[in-house]
Amino acid sequence: MKLYNSLSKETEDFKPINPDIVTIYTCGPTVYMYQHIGNFRTFVASDLVQRVLKYNGYKVKSIMNITDVGHLTGDNLGDADTGSDRLEIAADREGKSARDIADFYTEYFLKDFDKLNLTKPERFTKATAYIKDMVALIQKLEQKGFTYRISDGIYFDTSKFAQYGKLSGVKLEDLGGAGARLEPNPEKRNPTDFALWKLSPSDKVRWQEWESPWGKGFPGWHIECSAMSMIELGETLDVHVGGEDHKMIHHPNEIAQSECATGKKFVNYWVHGAFLKVDGGRMGKSVGNAYIISDLEAKGFEPLALRFFYMHAHYRTKLNFTWEALQNTQNSLRRLFALIETYKEDPDAPLAIEHMRQFEDAINNDINMPTAVAVMWDLIKSDLSEGTKLNTLLKFDEVFGLKIADHIGYEIPKSVENLARTRWEYKKQGIWDKADMIRRQIEKAGFVVDDSSSDFKIRRAK
Ligand SMILES: [Zn+2]
Ligand SMILES: [Zn+2]
Repeated sequence: MKLYNSLSKETEDFKPINPDIVTIYTCGPTVYMYQHIGNFRTFVASDLVQRVLKYNGYKVKSIMNITDVGHLTGDNLGDADTGSDRLEIAADREGKSARDIADFYTEYFLKDFDKLNLTKPERFTKATAYIKDMVALIQKLEQKGFTYRISDGIYFDTSKFAQYGKLSGVKLEDLGGAGARLEPNPEKRNPTDFALWKLSPSDKVRWQEWESPWGKGFPGWHIECSAMSMIELGETLDVHVGGEDHKMIHHPNEIAQSECATGKKFVNYWVHGAFLKVDGGRMGKSVGNAYIISDLEAKGFEPLALRFFYMHAHYRTKLNFTWEALQNTQNSLRRLFALIETYKEDPDAPLAIEHMRQFEDAINNDINMPTAVAVMWDLIKSDLSEGTKLNTLLKFDEVFGLKIADHIGYEIPKSVENLARTRWEYKKQGIWDKADMIRRQIEKAGFVVDDSSSDFKIRRAK
């Protein structure tokens, strides 16, 4: 299996630390609002990585975090640690406690997670449940001399970590104060330095704050992922998945603080999912096109059509969402399901070896889903038996996750069954001409009746 590694910038042969269990951490949602279809593109990418690993016989131990404190409004804008805590803003806006906000949006997220048939991690880890571990990690960094204190918190000194820009490609010396997009914090030693622990403001009681060796406050967003990942999956893990927006700041920060604390490599394979565009442009709340799953459902779309839509682009290439494209995808998904409903099951039918080979080549080549989907249509169009097609589709669906099994069920129409029963009665009574006449009617409907001495069986005509 080959996987593109953002750190080496190469497609590499995948080799897990432990040959039997692959450890995966996925940067999860910040639960201050609904997760939109751009966020879910990343979560589906993570799901596909896990499904392909399992298809290849690996066991997967996976963790997804739920950020319920400390993710600031400035954190994604090029200068970390500016702005306010998103959970606190949402609490003030909605007139609820930060805990209520987090619980509400977490629950909503988990429902959408199921609707997209995503692989459940072993645990969804809430940041607020790991505060002690974060404090311990910051103390470790402090003891090793990687931190400094300024008026609003404890910061990580990125100039002390020589490989800081390895993932992002950003060199520290290229980042003058003018390079930062937001007003830089003048107390910071380097523009790339980031907060490990933020001190609560003296004039305001926060919804969520904790005592610490440095004073009352809350953890920085980046330290959360490092602490949870290392506690749950060990100091070095196999795969870390996140959106490409994390490649510049969040993930370099995670690497810096983790590797400085342990002296070990933090993550072997970094997997970044590309953005989703909407109508050819940027997606965003301010643009009004940050659609959520229930927006799709309100327009009559099934969430699985969105899942199928994502698979029509490679996870590392941009994908453009339009309602028309989603409609086309839903149509083709329904066509697929309708076809499957006409297929007759045959558990003994052999798998389509050549299609299996092509499918496996595709998924094992850095999760190439567009090719895997094309192989599926090729299989459907082939003249292989329906039993072979079904059995092969069920294998493919271990990765597709489209719930193909729900659509299998070869049904004999009631009318045909009634005809066959009547014919059986005539036959028993020796009324051959009428039995023959009904047999022809059944054949006209596309079915064949096989008689045995004690019973009759209906099957579809070839
Ligand atoms: Zn991450
Ligand atoms: Zn993270």
